[in-house]
Amino acid sequence: SDLQYEGIDYMFKIVMIGDSGVGKSQLLNRFVRNEFHLKSKATIGVEFLTKTVLMDHKLVKAQIWDTAGQERYQAITTAYYRGATGALLTYDITKRHTFNHIEKWLDELHNHTDKNIVVMLVGNKSDLSSNREVPIEEAEEFAKQKGLFFLETSALDSHNVEPAFLGLLSQIYMTVG
Ligand code: GDP
Ligand code: MG
Repeated sequence: SDLQYEGIDYMFKIVMIGDSGVGKSQLLNRFVRNEFHLKSKATIGVEFLTKTVLMDHKLVKAQIWDTAGQERYQAITTAYYRGATGALLTYDITKRHTFNHIEKWLDELHNHTDKNIVVMLVGNKSDLSSNREVPIEEAEEFAKQKGLFFLETSALDSHNVEPAFLGLLSQIYMTVG
């Protein structure tokens, strides 16, 4: 449509956070390019990817930052977080320790960003639910207590990937709009 050639109304910076191996890069790959790779490289090769969506008759451009694997060494820099209005905080439903680290990620996030940042908690790899170590009810309860939005996703089969990103963007849109 002609809308593509009109100006962007809003630009939101989103940061992907969570332990190494939970599927951050593949969630982003799925959302932006509709691709998935089982042998994921450590990095998608760029600092961020963008995707523009139409929301309430406004063009919203998401600038989504992915790590280059720094999370493995707890070396995510202040620049990564600067100006972020939303975070997609991911754990792996088949790895309990990645869920146990969510609290630490929230602390890190709140040390580096505005306290009103919108957070979508994502339990990824829902396609592997036969190996589940984190019950969905437990994650729902945790999210409720912390005031986070929550969905289980699969970057592999696409389950809930769009709702996770679009839900995050629409919540940010509602806080600024
Ligand atoms: P990151 O370190 O958090 O960026 O994780 P990656 O996106 O690199 O993914 C780590 C590994 O998990 C890769 O082998 C991916 O192919 C795999 N992976 C990512 N998302 C999913 C998913 O939803 N389901 C399954 N089964 N594997 C996934
Ligand atoms: Mg990655």
